[in-house]
Amino acid sequence: MSIKIPKPEEMIRISYKPPRTPWMDTPVDFRPGTWSYSGAAKNLIYLNLPNPRAWQPYEEDWKLPENWKKIIIEGMRERLDKYRSFRLFLDLCVRCGACADKCHFYIGGGDPKNMPVLRAELLRSVYRRYFTESGKRFGRLAGARDLTVDVLKEWFYYFYQCTECRRCSVYCPYGIDQAEITIMGRELLNLVGCNINWVIEPVANSYRTGNHLGIQPGGVKDMLEFLADDIEERTGVRVEVPINKKGADILFITPSGDYFADPGTYTCMGYMMLFHEIGLNYTFSTYASEGGNFGLFTSHEMVKRLNNKIYAEAKRLGVKWIIGGECGHMWRVIHEYMDTMNGPADFLEEPVSPITGTLFENARSTKMVHIAEFTADLIKHGKLKLDPARNDHLRITFHDSCNPARGMGLFEEPRYVIKNSVRHFHEMPEDTIREKTLCCGGGAGLGNDENIEMRMRGGMPRAMAVKHVKEKHGVNRIACMCAIDRSTLTSLMEYWVPGVTVTGVHELLANALVMKGEKERTTDLRGEPLKEKTDDEAL
Ligand code: SF4
Ligand code: SF4
Repeated sequence: MSIKIPKPEEMIRISYKPPRTPWMDTPVDFRPGTWSYSGAAKNLIYLNLPNPRAWQPYEEDWKLPENWKKIIIEGMRERLDKYRSFRLFLDLCVRCGACADKCHFYIGGGDPKNMPVLRAELLRSVYRRYFTESGKRFGRLAGARDLTVDVLKEWFYYFYQCTECRRCSVYCPYGIDQAEITIMGRELLNLVGCNINWVIEPVANSYRTGNHLGIQPGGVKDMLEFLADDIEERTGVRVEVPINKKGADILFITPSGDYFADPGTYTCMGYMMLFHEIGLNYTFSTYASEGGNFGLFTSHEMVKRLNNKIYAEAKRLGVKWIIGGECGHMWRVIHEYMDTMNGPADFLEEPVSPITGTLFENARSTKMVHIAEFTADLIKHGKLKLDPARNDHLRITFHDSCNPARGMGLFEEPRYVIKNSVRHFHEMPEDTIREKTLCCGGGAGLGNDENIEMRMRGGMPRAMAVKHVKEKHGVNRIACMCAIDRSTLTSLMEYWVPGVTVTGVHELLANALVMKGEKERTTDLRGEPLKEKTDDEAL
């Protein structure tokens, strides 16, 4: 299917006029560029998921099981009983509208069903019809509607147009979390085999080979060796590549995007250089070679199964505790779900930095420390020699990735690392950063090519904030701590703000890191020439 994307000057002309027909009656339009391909049957079969078949969302017949409606209603009943938050989120909303204009997909697209309140109503209306007295008696008058194939299609379209970023929940006076409603909506869709391939293939690959991309253990090893070669070429220092090392102190887990895709590879080089420099006894794993957990975009059960892999590997290798890299949703899983799903990880030790002696109290139960916290602690204790002037060719801004920011409140540590690694740092406007950060538009499995128009629309508010600091301060690179962001922000910047490229935080750190025995550096990790020092600085 060929997908034509409007030019930026056309895309920016957004109509916020609602359709004439009432929202309950407006059929969904699967316009090319605004939805994702269905999950391939082979992946569903591999994962033992229901109703594997060949189908696509734009087709009339979705080949649903005969009793699909019963499956969904029963699935809803089961989840209402199991998850109190689900029932609360469906009951609590007073339709105050505070969340309405906070979703980047609504801001960038103008479709009222992308207002978080209305997105939730898609599911809430069915809940009312089958689970509330008023809905059963008064139907549409009470905001209730029957579950029909059209309603199911609408769920699919709009629950796969929500990146589960949780920005709307920050503004909701009741703390209603739309991401949780979307997760439930997707979970129900999965019961009848309606999911997208960009989610389900990474899940299947993670089972088969340990990572989203399906790279075999030998490929992981080769890639890390290749990165070590690149480090040696740039710095003159040969770093070790510990893989599946039993008895290492620390297991290091990071998204596979960090070792397989630019610009993540430079961030991965940054981790390796840092660990070498401080002499950390750590290991990568080829079994748990993925931090990302696309289970979060599928079902709670899948989150649990994938997360368990990390801890099973920590046990097998006999490490003391775990460091996690610059991943996004891995951290939401670890911080918010890990303990009740797979934990507490009592077989591991409480994380204490072997270099500074700091006890990471916040990770007492999960035994997993974020790399930004680990590195910030090293800098705070004066354990790293940094030359921020090596990043003088860069003017940096920082994008708070939704999950580390809103999912675990990690605001200061990455900024502290960046500010110690660069000399030109500029924040984007206040209402677009920290807990109010705007999504890249491609999270939760939506970062695929067929969904390109929706991604560019959803990412538009973030891109406009970058454009602002580019024009005001000459910003030419945006840093972030998420592999999905590093990938989707790259195409977003090319589309909306050409001239701005994307980096991970540890790439900046590694550029600045003065390593023992290194040769004089003339380029950064990307091979780009460093800015010449002034006479004063050279002294
Ligand atoms: S969670 Fe994010 S993408 Fe989903 S409705 Fe809220 S703001 Fe929009
Ligand atoms: S802000 Fe909360 S209560 Fe208000 S409409 Fe949105 S979800 Fe409902």
